[in-house]
Amino acid sequence: MFGKRIAVSLLTTVVAAGLAATGMAQTGETGAGSTNSGSTNPGSTSSGSTLRVFDPTLIDRTVNPCQDFFQYSCGNWMKEHPLPADRSYYGRFSELYDLNLLHLRGILEQAETGANRTPNEQKIGDEYASCMDVKALDAKGIAPLEPMLRKIDALREPGELPGLVGELQWMGVRVYFDMGSSPDYADASREIGYFDAGGKGLPERGFYTRTDAKSAQIRREYVAHIAKMLALAGEPADKAAADAARVMDFETKLAEASLSAVEERDPQAENHPSDVAALTAEMTHFSLGGYWKTYDRTATGAAGAPIAGKINVAQPKFFAALNELMATTPMETQRAYLRWHLLHAFAGTSLPESFDQENWHFYAHVLGGAEKQQDRWKTCVSRVDREMGDALGEVYVARYFPPADKRRTLKLTEAIEQAMGRDIESVDWMSAATKAQAMVKLHGVMNKIGYPDKWKSYRTLTIVLGDAAGNQMRVSEYRTARDLAKIGKPVDRKEWEMTPPTVNAYYDPQENNVNFPAGYLQPPFFSGKEDDAANYGDMGSTIGHELTHGFDDEGRQFDATGNLKDWWTKSDEANFNARAECMVKQYDAIEVVPGVHLNGKLTLGENLADLGGLRLALMAWVLKADEAHVDMTAKMDGYTPEQRFWIAYAQQWCSETRPEALRTQAQTDPHAPDKYRTNTILQDMPEFAKSFACKQGDAMVIAQPCRIW
Ligand SMILES: [Zn+2]
Repeated sequence: MFGKRIAVSLLTTVVAAGLAATGMAQTGETGAGSTNSGSTNPGSTSSGSTLRVFDPTLIDRTVNPCQDFFQYSCGNWMKEHPLPADRSYYGRFSELYDLNLLHLRGILEQAETGANRTPNEQKIGDEYASCMDVKALDAKGIAPLEPMLRKIDALREPGELPGLVGELQWMGVRVYFDMGSSPDYADASREIGYFDAGGKGLPERGFYTRTDAKSAQIRREYVAHIAKMLALAGEPADKAAADAARVMDFETKLAEASLSAVEERDPQAENHPSDVAALTAEMTHFSLGGYWKTYDRTATGAAGAPIAGKINVAQPKFFAALNELMATTPMETQRAYLRWHLLHAFAGTSLPESFDQENWHFYAHVLGGAEKQQDRWKTCVSRVDREMGDALGEVYVARYFPPADKRRTLKLTEAIEQAMGRDIESVDWMSAATKAQAMVKLHGVMNKIGYPDKWKSYRTLTIVLGDAAGNQMRVSEYRTARDLAKIGKPVDRKEWEMTPPTVNAYYDPQENNVNFPAGYLQPPFFSGKEDDAANYGDMGSTIGHELTHGFDDEGRQFDATGNLKDWWTKSDEANFNARAECMVKQYDAIEVVPGVHLNGKLTLGENLADLGGLRLALMAWVLKADEAHVDMTAKMDGYTPEQRFWIAYAQQWCSETRPEALRTQAQTDPHAPDKYRTNTILQDMPEFAKSFACKQGDAMVIAQPCRIW
């Protein structure tokens, strides 16, 4: 399957999914989609956008900024942007995402019909057209999956499973477990094989185990969804219902043997070096040899297993349980489980519309609260971006990301990095020895801005017009082969985990690099036409956020070269943990929907990054303003530079989220909802209260702010 990266992104899956997938909690690579709005200005480009980084018209001046700064900064935006029916989430990220979608559609429509197309244009154009042709998909029905469905039906004993599991994974169906490449925790310069828990259709372990009424209801809806999918594929209703119950029972056993989202954030808990021979010996009821046979050996050019030597078995307990389950689970259950996941993987945009609708119903409506499906073209643009993002991104960047924007972002990044250096030097709770190591790590960060130096080649990928399901299989094969070919080779720190048009950013602790895709480096987050107060408050804080991830509760466990290696003295570690505990308590206390609290441990890394990032942005901006002799009392649009800095920070988070999505987010996502990324973070910044003359007793002023960096 696909390589494992522990990169931490800026946005929640709710946000990123609200942007990029109808199936917000979809586990496969097929989650279709994107968004809809009508509120953006289609003609805008990075230079002509009407979106502003600091926008006084979005402010609701009837709200007291010292009581609820999120509502104050975003109140008018919310009035003007009621949540569209097809969204679980709509925010300023969605505004830019919508604009990017229009740009990408323009590129794809040209590629669809142009004369003398380049090989890449043929691929992206034909894939888009195949995805859009719903009539053809309806006419084909499930015929493209029939050969595999027949193989599943023919399964009679556990010994036949390994070969079929290999085949299914090869075509992108994520059954039983995940396997791929990953940097070695002990030596981040090399890729090794990686085995991880997987094979579940619900977003996280707790969805299978929680005992409250709402969780039980979601499970009932999930079982009903599986039954409907099986029925759509031709099973009689009573058999489909019985099969769905069997699948639920089996997935619950997989879940019980898996780590929770909180546990998965601890790299030590996932660090279990092993080798292929040892795992082969342990999997007594699942022949790894038989499993490898169905993987294409040309992937690595080697005969035999595509993975040899050292591997990491992230969750040994899971594989021990899986080994037993393989032998003891009735074949009828395993056949139902495989059928369900096969349909699930292709439901989004490769099967008849009825599958797409049913898939949307559970993943976007039940789990996300969306009320209607988004336009097909958005789903299809997102699919091509996900599958061939570099082919699309190369054209996108040439049209919409001027070189000046790249230079400007790089300068801003360097200013934030310098602020971090000064910050590390100045903190009073860290010893000189740990500080010296922290500086080595900071200086080792690689800044990646806009797009990759080298575009991925799609030369070996065949895209056939009118064959959406076949194309999906071939894309999966292409990606799997590419991923497996990395094993045993040096890690390529210059490769990107996000496509260039993506509205998001990330830090990768094993590569020690920050990554800002071109799609994000635009208004309303960054603009060459606006002043430093706005750009530092917004994009500056994001750059600081990503940098701080190198020093959050998870990232700090990795050294400058990305190895999982403790470089902290015991007392510095204790000081850090005591300070971090302040934020755990602060976020544990937040109730996002009745009965559902945020999880302070799950969100700790992101909250540390938000707070640290904003502090770094403030430090860097104050220094720059000082050097430029900016008059800090001069008002623009009625606000001092400091006030505009805070408002620009808050306005990047203007958004609305449905309660269903908030619940799912609180239970699965390491990011806090946008309102708290604004208000709770600013409560921890006494400088904010000063800028708006907030006083003790105001909601935005708390007795004991948390402070780490
Ligand atoms: Zn983050």
